[in-house]
Amino acid sequence: MQDNQKNSNSKGDENKGAPRFNFYWIYGIIAVVLIALNFFWAQPQAKTVDWNRLEKIIRANDLEKIVIINKEKAEIFLKETAVSKSDYEKEIPKPSMGLTNTGPHFTHTIGNDEVFETRIIKLQDEIQNAEGSTKFNINVTHERRYDVIGGIISWVLPLIILIAIWIFIMRRVGGGAAGPGSQIFNIGRSKATLFDKDAKVTVTFKDVAGLDEAKEEVMEVVDFLKNPKKYTALGGKIPKGVLLVGSPGTGKTLLAKAVAGEAAVPFFSISGSDFVEMFVGVGASRVRDLFRQAREKAPCIIFIDEIDAIGRARGRNAMQGNDERENTLNQLLVEMDGFSTDKGVIIIAATNRPDILDSALLRPGRFDRQISIDKPDLVGREQIFKVHLKPIKISGDVDSKKLALMTPGFAGAEIANVCNEAALIAARRGKKFVDMQDFNDAIDRSIGGLEKKNKLISPEEKRVIAYHEAGHALCGWYLEYAMPLVKVTIVPRGVAALGYAQYLPKEQHITTVEQLNDQICMTLGGRAAESICFNRISTGAQSDLDYVTKMAYSMITVYGLNEKVGNVSFYGMQSEGGFTKPYSEETATLIDNESRKIIEEQYERAKQLLREKRKELELIANELLNKEVLHKDDLERLIGRREFDDVPGDDGEKAKSENIGVDTLKEDIDADEIA
Ligand code: ADP
Ligand code: ZN
Repeated sequence: MQDNQKNSNSKGDENKGAPRFNFYWIYGIIAVVLIALNFFWAQPQAKTVDWNRLEKIIRANDLEKIVIINKEKAEIFLKETAVSKSDYEKEIPKPSMGLTNTGPHFTHTIGNDEVFETRIIKLQDEIQNAEGSTKFNINVTHERRYDVIGGIISWVLPLIILIAIWIFIMRRVGGGAAGPGSQIFNIGRSKATLFDKDAKVTVTFKDVAGLDEAKEEVMEVVDFLKNPKKYTALGGKIPKGVLLVGSPGTGKTLLAKAVAGEAAVPFFSISGSDFVEMFVGVGASRVRDLFRQAREKAPCIIFIDEIDAIGRARGRNAMQGNDERENTLNQLLVEMDGFSTDKGVIIIAATNRPDILDSALLRPGRFDRQISIDKPDLVGREQIFKVHLKPIKISGDVDSKKLALMTPGFAGAEIANVCNEAALIAARRGKKFVDMQDFNDAIDRSIGGLEKKNKLISPEEKRVIAYHEAGHALCGWYLEYAMPLVKVTIVPRGVAALGYAQYLPKEQHITTVEQLNDQICMTLGGRAAESICFNRISTGAQSDLDYVTKMAYSMITVYGLNEKVGNVSFYGMQSEGGFTKPYSEETATLIDNESRKIIEEQYERAKQLLREKRKELELIANELLNKEVLHKDDLERLIGRREFDDVPGDDGEKAKSENIGVDTLKEDIDADEIA
């Protein structure tokens, strides 16, 4: 349900830098080192000779001097006159560019420095004795030489590699890569680029359709950011943190942006999950960095999406504690406490799970203001359609009110998506304007995934599905408290949805037993119809049964609506693993039995009803087989107006719409995914 715009805004592509780690400068250093090595090696390499050869050279009086390097190696220099001797010529490498080779001309590996020198002295004595003069002198000197090449190889190179690895890891952790090399010394600051601080946010309240109450509430924040003195002078306190609560795609990010846009302040945005990385300490340092940056840019807005990723209650499960997340959360709390509101930094966070947030986050001085962002109602949807229809070339028959009627349960993001999709469909069909048919298809597509035109369903199967859906529709039609039908269809959609009936629930906060019973009865109507008409039942009702079972258990264990079990609610008391129940075995059995009873009763009721309305059932099922989709007015045409329909007044439906009776073959699809 995330739309593209949101993705590209909150974590722009250049910010997720991990895969873009820049190796070039390391390649550069390695190249330089290699060139240097090459330079040294390019010096002519003297040939290594053994002692016998060296003795020969000395006896031939061709030796100029011997230089012992680091007591390991002897460099042998020949007399200038000897170099060109044919004995040596081939063995002495020619230096490049016509220079003379000044030596060393040979080298000799010394086993032991002292032994070597004793040998030399012995040889010298021998020659002197033979010549009878002390003139013959073997010139031996010592030299300590620092081995540059070896040094580089054994010391610098590993260091470079280590640094490279280190930087690589730090960058990964940091997740951001700026220009080549520029960040090397900024590693501690990690995510400097993560927050995109659109200096100019162009979104304003005009772009946010509906959400009037929420807008009103955040207006105060806008006002304050524009004119902080007015508020602080009177001693008023502005909330530091505002928590936007609502399902995905309802426009929380949009609203936060609009606040920044209205107040013309920078907008820092980050997602809670960006804080939580596998490396310890990164989350906390990112929080610190975020707030440091925000303070520099104050007044400004920090938007933290999915705050539940870090704000989950601490220490609920000792075995699975996430220290890193807790550190991050603690740092966030510290930062929030650390500045006063008159600094002009206001934090807006978004979540759809306020119930799992750590209570410390919700304390005064932190996110003490909660604004709930509901899915849009009919009017809201119409307004959102209007916003998103603006940039589209639409034909005259496109009516935002109709579209809103067709999209119960859609959030803003899905509406935006439908509009975009419709435009794409129209383009594919080569139309000049986007018409209602394109919108119809776009809506269908986003309800159940792509229309599977050639999905293989046998005619027999299709008949079963038609009766099943007709069963839902009819039960709903004749049950007083069932939700009004929007449409019923047997067009297969998506992976597994074979058909569905879509209803429009009334806005209400208290549900009566009668309503719940009718709801269950209607949901069982599909299977009941199959049973009556084909005398057998199918797997197609899996999600119906799932829904019904949950509903029945909730009636008993959550809402305390069962006489035998009594006025009790075990809501939230069941441990997550389900090992400990907050009630006894007997109660458990009772609950099981009572749930079964409810379901059984309603199933019988559905069957009874459909037997009475067999004629209508056939009528609708056949029409469904013909047309595949039936809307409310089609049903009215076929079987007359629904008895219990209140005149569609303008207090109208403020809908939290639902798809009930989405019939699936596989288990992994539920109504939520499809709705
Ligand atoms: P959330 O943050 O609640 O998940 P977003 O703010 O990211 O949702 O909404 C996603 C997109 O849906 C927006 O960019 C916008 O195009 C569209 N949208 C959502 N709500 C509205 C609205 N009330 N008015 C106009 N567009 C909306
Ligand atoms: Zn069904």
